Amino acid sequence: MKELLLSEYKPVSQCVTKETHITKAKFKVIDIHEHMGKLVLGDNYQDQYDLIQYEQELKRLNVHHVVNLDGVWGHEFTKMMKHTEDLKHMISTFVWIDVSKIDEPDFSEQVKTHLHEAYAKGARGIKMWKVISLNQKDRAGNYIRTDDDRLQVVYETAAELNIPILIHIADPVAFFLPIDETNERYEELGENPDWAFGKPDQYSFQELMEMQDNMIRKNPKTNFIVAHFGSYAENLAHVAQRLDQFPNMYIDIAARIAELGRVPYSSREFFLKYSNRILYGTDCTPINLRAHHKYFRFLETYDEYFEYQEEGEEPGQGRWRIYGIGLPDEVLKDVYYRNACKLLNLDINQFE
Ligand SMILES: [Zn+2]
Repeated sequence: MKELLLSEYKPVSQCVTKETHITKAKFKVIDIHEHMGKLVLGDNYQDQYDLIQYEQELKRLNVHHVVNLDGVWGHEFTKMMKHTEDLKHMISTFVWIDVSKIDEPDFSEQVKTHLHEAYAKGARGIKMWKVISLNQKDRAGNYIRTDDDRLQVVYETAAELNIPILIHIADPVAFFLPIDETNERYEELGENPDWAFGKPDQYSFQELMEMQDNMIRKNPKTNFIVAHFGSYAENLAHVAQRLDQFPNMYIDIAARIAELGRVPYSSREFFLKYSNRILYGTDCTPINLRAHHKYFRFLETYDEYFEYQEEGEEPGQGRWRIYGIGLPDEVLKDVYYRNACKLLNLDINQFE
């Protein structure tokens, strides 16, 4: 038999299973995790999609409200708010914090003013991401910890304004491990080598989880939506323990159905038990909303052994397939809109 390279191996499953194609969610949906700005689409993001068309596509999917995580700050924030003005009835924009100023003596005052002003101009949440914890260092040369006291002003102001913080720290565990024949995301890291962590002075995955715990514990009045299933979709028991411990912690499912769908029994149990803490999210952008179909299929059906990626694409996250978890209606309603409604202070009647 001819020897094959891993990159040449494309097995075709001969398993014949039921296929349910859901192009519209069973109930109205709020997507807590979308990107409409330059982080994913680049500087000329406004030219890449038409808002009217975007609205129509969302409605076809039964998505009636989205969180735009790309609020940034300063003139970028103003530009974004202007760009999305016509659709503001169905968008909640989350604003960022400029942590490059963390060493300035009046950082705390700056942040407070920035957040109050952004709120007055329509921001409805705060987005924090890997700039904090993995990418940016302070003047002392340390990566900024999420439990750094200098960030307390962010957490306290969020509580004061009654807006949530969506935070994305860490990444799949495999990104922190050696890239060798044992790494389950070997091909993904091969395609995106800069996604790997593990520089000697970078925090380990475990350290990141500890500081995440400290941050949530220290700020019981702040609502945290910890993106990507609490940063640790590979370990549902770990996440469950945190949800038990911290009533102010919520999680989204963005970019994690590949993880959840490979452990369907535990995932289903988890969703039933923590239905009031899980939020629907996709990581989609207005130029590609088709990923929603797979999310609906995963949540609503018992389909077996299906591909989590879109048709014609390689399995981006690892060589496995997923199973649907057939959630009951009440759980779907929690995940699709009830929890998000509560955190975003939206009127639930628009979604019932
Ligand atoms: Zn994202």
